[in-house]
Amino acid sequence: MAAAAAARIVEVRETTRVERIGAHSHIRGLGLNDSLEARHVSQGMVGQLAARRAAGIVLQMIKDGRIAGRAVLLAGQPGTGKTAIATALAAALGQDTPFTSMAGSEIYSLEMSKTEAITQAIRKSIGVRIKEESEIIEGEVVEVQIEKPASGVGTKVGKLILKTTDMETVYDLGGKMIDSILKEKVQSGDVITIDKATGKITRLGRSFARARDYDATGQQTRFVQCPEGELQKRKEVVHTVTLHEIDVINSRTHGFLALFSGDTGEIKPEVREQINGKVAEWREEGKAEIIPGVLFIDEVHMLDIECFSFLNRALENEMSPIVIMATNRGVTKIRGTNYKSPHGIPLDLLDRTIIVPTQPYDEKELREILSIRCEEEDCQMSDNALTVLTRICKETSLRYGMQLIMTSSLISRKRKALEVDVEDIKRAYQLFFDEGRSVQFLREYQQEFMF
Ligand code: ATP
Repeated sequence: MAAAAAARIVEVRETTRVERIGAHSHIRGLGLNDSLEARHVSQGMVGQLAARRAAGIVLQMIKDGRIAGRAVLLAGQPGTGKTAIATALAAALGQDTPFTSMAGSEIYSLEMSKTEAITQAIRKSIGVRIKEESEIIEGEVVEVQIEKPASGVGTKVGKLILKTTDMETVYDLGGKMIDSILKEKVQSGDVITIDKATGKITRLGRSFARARDYDATGQQTRFVQCPEGELQKRKEVVHTVTLHEIDVINSRTHGFLALFSGDTGEIKPEVREQINGKVAEWREEGKAEIIPGVLFIDEVHMLDIECFSFLNRALENEMSPIVIMATNRGVTKIRGTNYKSPHGIPLDLLDRTIIVPTQPYDEKELREILSIRCEEEDCQMSDNALTVLTRICKETSLRYGMQLIMTSSLISRKRKALEVDVEDIKRAYQLFFDEGRSVQFLREYQQEFMF
């Protein structure tokens, strides 16, 4: 069972890695200076200065905890870097702030209702920093016995007798403690600490009382006073989990393994209510702290009116994350209604939204983005080829141009060239259609396709 779980973890990590060397892997941050002004080219980001600066201010507000209950909308034409800016923001927030990214269309799944999908996404974006006190016991080892199983295979068992002030305690040893003992080479006369929460054993050195035995052999260099008085120390352990993780672990029908498979299904509202109550208790007792993270919803116009009203209500909750939405639509119908609205978003939600526009890139900026991508994809490209590719991007789209980097690079390798040249770009352009040419092709040969 444990081996299966471990294999799964590897699988999940791999997927993340594949995503990360994907479309936005060249982005490492927003590329701002200390006064939150965007540098023209920095941390993999190029141009789009006003939007990046605005994102920097949002970042500051998130860090100061001043933006709860509000939403940000990145609005602009396709390929103007909306997802790139959200990715940069996530990178700038750092590991400890939860960041969840989803596409609007993802909520239409057969496995769970739309509102459940949004609730899970929201709860994945709220961190709970839990402080735990762990008991550490310090003492001198009187005796360690570790028994190997008779057959030579299977789990080892053992006993440890530890002397603290004037009391001797016998500990039954399990796998983790035995591993720790063997690793630290613990023997009688050593002074050790045991972390009761984790079972970790740390060897501090030899007991001062036995120093002489070892002086003679010259083996031992460090001696520790045999513990007296204050023997039980307390240590604070802090870890951050998301509300969603707590939900899944406490949901009887799923269990924590569901976290690895991602197959969490619907979680009962009672479970969530209980968790909310427990977290509120921990907060009051000073044991936990809420970290509102970021929920990024790409193609937000794909949500329908029910989802929008659900989201709007969720934003009012004091534990709400910051919702960042992105859309490339202008005035369009709100899904599930016959009403039109800017970006297909209902006005009451737009009302509590800060809108950050993104602008199309000029040729110089496109060239710079392409050149960063070439480096990212390990592709040498001649200046002329880059000029042609930039022009293609201008005529078609930045995304299409980026696809041609890898394809033309493979073509150039086939003719054993050291760098991509104009002819390779031309060949890739002929082989792979952009959207415009594909539509034209469809129109011309319509009658030959199946309907
Ligand atoms: P859509 O509306 O189609 O979803 P978008 O605005 O989200 O498009 P992105 O996906 O962010 O566009 O951009 C397309 C590609 O260009 C991505 O690979 C992205 O990383 C890259 N890109 C866009 N803008 C920049 C930029 N300013 N600096 C560096 N890379 C960028």
